[in-house]
Amino acid sequence: MTQQVNNSLWQLSRRSEIEVNRLTGEDKADIVVIGGGYTGCSAALRLAEGGADVTLLEAEYSGFGGSGRNVGLTNAGLWLNPEDIDQAVGNEFGNRLNDYLGKAPDLVYELIKKYNIECDALRNGTLHLAHSGKGLKALEDRAWQINNRGGSVMLLDKSATYKLTKAENYIGAIHDMRGGTIQPLDYCHGLMAAAKNAGATVYNGTPAQTIRHRHRKWHIKTPNGMIVCDRVLLATNAYIRNVSPLVRSSFTTMYYSQMATEPLSREQLEHFLPGKNGTWDTRMVMRSFRTDAAGRLIIGTIGDIYMDGTPLFSAWAGKVVRDTFPDVGDVEWAYKWAGRIACSTNFVPNLHDLGRGFYSVSGFSGRGISPGTAFGRTMADYLLGRIGSTELPLPLKTVEPDRMHRLRQLGFEAGSQLTRLKDLFVS
Ligand SMILES: Cc1cc2nc3c(=O)[nH]c(=O)nc-3n(C[C@H](O)[C@H](O)[C@H](O)COP(=O)(O)OP(=O)(O)OC[C@H]3O[C@@H](n4cnc5c(N)ncnc54)[C@H](O)[C@@H]3O)c2cc1C
Repeated sequence: MTQQVNNSLWQLSRRSEIEVNRLTGEDKADIVVIGGGYTGCSAALRLAEGGADVTLLEAEYSGFGGSGRNVGLTNAGLWLNPEDIDQAVGNEFGNRLNDYLGKAPDLVYELIKKYNIECDALRNGTLHLAHSGKGLKALEDRAWQINNRGGSVMLLDKSATYKLTKAENYIGAIHDMRGGTIQPLDYCHGLMAAAKNAGATVYNGTPAQTIRHRHRKWHIKTPNGMIVCDRVLLATNAYIRNVSPLVRSSFTTMYYSQMATEPLSREQLEHFLPGKNGTWDTRMVMRSFRTDAAGRLIIGTIGDIYMDGTPLFSAWAGKVVRDTFPDVGDVEWAYKWAGRIACSTNFVPNLHDLGRGFYSVSGFSGRGISPGTAFGRTMADYLLGRIGSTELPLPLKTVEPDRMHRLRQLGFEAGSQLTRLKDLFVS
């Protein structure tokens, strides 16, 4: 067994090479996008195709942040139910956002097709699994709310859920055909390649260190250079560093960790998600299960795998697999990795207007593949002057710091670690 502790499956199974092209010396652009995840790459692609002189600055490499570490579920909508979204942002924006994000996976799959992005894209529907009677009730309510707004998700009963998953202990599910799975890092690399081909200048390995407004221009200092531009789009989400402590203070970070096996045998795969759907469940400290294109079993949950040095997490994951998929047999973990999620105070992403042509998109709250792709593109349309601020799916706001964010972060982590201990030793 290859024991690649702290190594991400997506990194180790990616198709493309990591390219480094650092900025040295002075450069200029009309628009600089900071951050090479889905949001930044999608924005740079749209801006370049729209004829803008755009440069993308990435501190490490495309997909270093959440975009290269996530579960790869191309979900529609947010974690919040449609009615909770209405409540968080008001009915007008709620309607707009629900509609916009309901269609966001279409955009992801269109881009994958248009730019021939090889990322193991499957669109066979996601499964949100009910782990209890209360969970099932919550799913019934969620399904009703989605379908009441023009969606068409299906509620599966226990036996239909079992048929697709072979998972014990789940009593129903929402099957949402709008979504599916991807190899998330390959998708991100594909977006960045498309942006470059469209004419965007891309500097990897180039963190923005300071951003200052002087003589009507933004001056962005990097370790070996400087770039001067008219407008800036900050697309750094949970992986923000150096710049804008104000934006950083507007969300709480929460860890999500995953572990994966080497490819299962054909027989084992008959007992683990034979429908090949990406799944997660209704637990407060949720669990996710999926396979990749090679047939590896991937399990995830909230919490930081690095915090306990991984033995507790491995023991927990082994027990969950034994309890949930007993016919798979014992498995060994070959890949373990974690990533940070940026949770906004109301779990709805934020579009921030930081003044003088400086904007930021953040706070995806764990749903960023389709939303990041869509918001990057829409902010590009705004910067290109194709749409006005009143046509955005959310209002552009000034930043409101979340003063409780450190406390909330501790709460998320402590809650997840305690739940794992309980799963292991109590239930
Ligand atoms: C473990 C995990 C599981 C998840 N699962 C899912 C899922 O299944 N489905 C889903 O839809 N969403 C999921 N998410 C959320 C999703 O991954 C994120 O919302 C999304 O990737 C955010 O994309 P982004 O481009 O905004 O930010 P990121 O991908 O985080 O990119 C930000 C980039 O900015 C760069 N950066 C930061 N500071 C600077 C600087 N000063 N200068 C230059 N560059 C800088 C970073 O290096 C980074 O590459 C998950 C997230 C995690 C962490």
